[in-house]
Amino acid sequence: MSNQFLALSEVLYAYILNNSLREPEVLRRLREETEATNPHAIMSISPVQGQFMMLLLKLISAVKTLEVGVFTGYSSLCTALTLPDHGRIYACDVSEEWTSVARRYWAEAGVADKVTLKLAPAVETLDALLAEGHAGTFDFAFIDADKSNYDAYYERALKLVRKGGLLVFDNMLWYGKVADESVTDADTVALRALNAKLHQDERVFASLIGVGDGMNLAIKLGD
Ligand code: CA
Repeated sequence: MSNQFLALSEVLYAYILNNSLREPEVLRRLREETEATNPHAIMSISPVQGQFMMLLLKLISAVKTLEVGVFTGYSSLCTALTLPDHGRIYACDVSEEWTSVARRYWAEAGVADKVTLKLAPAVETLDALLAEGHAGTFDFAFIDADKSNYDAYYERALKLVRKGGLLVFDNMLWYGKVADESVTDADTVALRALNAKLHQDERVFASLIGVGDGMNLAIKLGD
């Protein structure tokens, strides 16, 4: 049996889309608008990742979630569409411009009341949530923002999620650069260090998988 991931050709990726994707129309329009108008559209998660996240949210019956890195809102809209009516997302970003697109789509999809947008450096927002007594109350956290701060987000998100809660980190294979020791820029070094930390961290059970640009999933084990 091969121990390698299947290289995903265009044909095979199209097969996945055609045989698995159930992308609601509002998500499709958000994705297409972002691809057509935003030069940083690659920062958005893929629809396959979005659907996988929706499955994970259903699996753990998530109600209260955290998102670090909103961009134009694809992942938060996936989340909002999946959470129950009383669900709540605390969404962190620093860009008024990009999150204005997200807010427009949350409103259009009728889920805006589920999202609390915090426009500030996320470390400040997470520290404030901890100070306000939110520790141990989140079911899920999605981290997809500036890579050099991932560990700072991890430590805070780990306190904010409940036992059995799930942390998901995006871009953890970083276009393959984490495996190339000759690449030593700050972002790559930070992601490489966090993968190594999660591998050994007894506070979580983690799984690094080759979906999209790599996702590292970690379940919080203790209180
Ligand atoms: Ca990403």
